[in-house]
Amino acid sequence: METTHSSVGASSCERWWNCPGSVKLVSTLPPQEPSEYAKEGTKLHAVAAYALQNHMTAASAAEMMINSGRFLDVMAGGIDFDQCDAVQVCIDTVREDLVKYRGAQLEIEKQFQLTSIHPDARGTNDANIGVFLKKLIVYDYKFGRGVSVEVEENKQMMYYGLGANQEGDYDEIELVVIQPRAIHRDGPIRRWVLHKSELLAFGEQLKAHISATSSPTAPLVCGDHCQKYFCPALAVCPAVKQRVGEVAVGVFDEPVRTLPAPETLNSNALKKLLDTIPIIDAYTKSVEAYALSVLNNGGKVEGYKLVQKKSNRQWKDEEVVKKKWPKIAVQTVEKVLSPAQVEKSLAEVMTKKEAVKIVEDFCFKPDAGVTLAVSEDPREEVRPKLESVFQPMSEKMKDDSIFS
Ligand code: SF4
Repeated sequence: METTHSSVGASSCERWWNCPGSVKLVSTLPPQEPSEYAKEGTKLHAVAAYALQNHMTAASAAEMMINSGRFLDVMAGGIDFDQCDAVQVCIDTVREDLVKYRGAQLEIEKQFQLTSIHPDARGTNDANIGVFLKKLIVYDYKFGRGVSVEVEENKQMMYYGLGANQEGDYDEIELVVIQPRAIHRDGPIRRWVLHKSELLAFGEQLKAHISATSSPTAPLVCGDHCQKYFCPALAVCPAVKQRVGEVAVGVFDEPVRTLPAPETLNSNALKKLLDTIPIIDAYTKSVEAYALSVLNNGGKVEGYKLVQKKSNRQWKDEEVVKKKWPKIAVQTVEKVLSPAQVEKSLAEVMTKKEAVKIVEDFCFKPDAGVTLAVSEDPREEVRPKLESVFQPMSEKMKDDSIFS
């Protein structure tokens, strides 16, 4: 089965369903580093799968993954209590259903391909359980806090449902969204049951919508879905640029050279601007992310450079620090004071310079990655690590500057 990323896969379904032209536009973008949210999602999904496979709690699964050294990339940065709690809600939900439906068959991270719909129609279910002669339950974990996801008529979930029930073995399909960290009137676990015939009807629509994305005239359609589903083309999208431009004209009714003070805006102008803040906000953030990816790929952005992100010092070995300064550094059995706090205490009995020098030998600065800075920024420019994350950009991409 083909396992590479699909341009019309389930995870991006809501975006290209609403904006068929996005598939072509997204395909022209340089490779992008996953966002912090995406990395966190990958990590927490991996912990959930590992915990279910090995009959463990989320915390012990995460600990085992970290200690094994086999998941260094995915577990980078460790895991905190809040993240463990969120994963635990997901795996508890699946396990409670397994207890409720004795004998049900569990499948974890099952990949599927819907070749009858399109060769690239594929995805991966977080988990599903088949209850013999009764129903199929399909689970999707969502770890975001910002947008609470509805389960009813959720196209991504229906896509997953089709993938899980390809053989048509089950007449009843229950779709379950588990989103522990977002507030929703129905709580963190939302369920929706539908009949196989409804899923099959959705499959016909899916086929038509996937086919529409490959039309040479597939339109770019701007709307809430652009930021809600994190369209990676937001920064370069002509439809978004046009929308942002229309807002400026629509609000101010004349070309604007300087932005008016908020207190001078009338109620109508305030409403128009407030309505558009999400898209402008998403657009500016994606412009910044895109500029970062251009520089990271060896391209140029006039007036900007890459610099190292700030990171806080960490102890090389806390046990060594506890022995070295048992009275100063040790707050409780578990907690050691930070290098800055120990430095401050030492500076009471010696000069600040001496304290800095002594503490320095016990610390290191973790690599926090790179960020954008203006060329005049006093920080030293760093070279992109092309080989680690990105592929080199094509000459065409380097020429296609959106910043000119
Ligand atoms: S930003 Fe919006 S309009 Fe532009 S390609 Fe993405 S989904 Fe379509």
